[in-house]
Amino acid sequence: MQDCLFCKIASKQISSKIIYENDFVIAFNDINPVAPVHVLVIPKIHIKDLNNIGKENEKYVLECIKAIKEVAKITGICDDGYRVISNTGENGGQVIPHLHFHVIGGKNLGAKIVN
Ligand code: AMP
Ligand code: ZN
Repeated sequence: MQDCLFCKIASKQISSKIIYENDFVIAFNDINPVAPVHVLVIPKIHIKDLNNIGKENEKYVLECIKAIKEVAKITGICDDGYRVISNTGENGGQVIPHLHFHVIGGKNLGAKIVN
């Protein structure tokens, strides 16, 4: 999608610190990390959010889930544990309307999900 920031990151029009990539997904460091490890995993096609997953794009979504595991391995947080979040819509706090999974770890995040 032309004006989408994450589409531009996926097509490398905008640079990012890439952690992992394949034909379907790209994973890059969040520009404003909330923990020692904070990586965003996104599909390389424009999908707005979780509400827009369907038969036509499910391969990309499955690849995102598999990429999360790869990111956890690469960044060394696999065994200690981590959190995955996909903010959806206004109440979910979604700022960038391109499906993404925050992979957050590298410290003990506690049990509380919302402050
Ligand atoms: P969300 O609120 O779930 O839409 O989160 C969007 C995330 O994208 C935030 O954590 C931002 O810090 C992050 N972000 C915004 N612009 C960039 C960028 N150019 N490179 C990397 N991360 C970004
Ligand atoms: Zn997009």
